[in-house]
Amino acid sequence: MITASEAKKRLKEGNQRFVSGVRSIDTIVKQIQRAEFVIHQEPFAIVLGCSDARVPAEIIFDQGLGDLFVIRVAGNIVAPSQVGSVEFAVERFGTPLVVVLGHSMCGAVMATIDDLENPSKDKSSNVLSIVNRIRPTVEPLFDTELRNDPGKLLESSIHANILAATNHLMHGSHLLEQLVQRGDLEIIGAEYSLETGEVVFFE
Ligand SMILES: [Zn+2]
Repeated sequence: MITASEAKKRLKEGNQRFVSGVRSIDTIVKQIQRAEFVIHQEPFAIVLGCSDARVPAEIIFDQGLGDLFVIRVAGNIVAPSQVGSVEFAVERFGTPLVVVLGHSMCGAVMATIDDLENPSKDKSSNVLSIVNRIRPTVEPLFDTELRNDPGKLLESSIHANILAATNHLMHGSHLLEQLVQRGDLEIIGAEYSLETGEVVFFE
């Protein structure tokens, strides 16, 4: 298995291809070699990203079958099933890198801000289970002067939500924490721009 920094390099190069509008021949070849992945996979990165239709990890990183272990949930939140999915992939495949991938104009973060502005009692409890995970991160920002600048408030909230999810993954699992401490795993945040197609890693 490659190292975390090699994995990051591969993702960055793939994203550059995506931004330039080209696809790697590897990505297409892997699609033809589908049968080879029936009993084997060796994903070099785990991506915990938002469900947003405009942010599909395999496409924006130009990767093929078997390359990425992807967990998608609205708002790229971290709940026990997400932690479990990451633990599973790390243990099973020895994947060295986890990327928590948020994005500009995230609807889940917008819904959280909206809920702080207009608390409503008739929201579905299932939707609230997502909003309630984002709220503790957004609320302190909402209580500052950022409240008067909706664009900045959204940007800062998206950034803070990615960092909170990254932090939660790092410290919400004994297994992941140990692997990070031993230098066998890197967990990093990143933000995708809907406007430019670029992914910026938080380094
Ligand atoms: Zn989103």
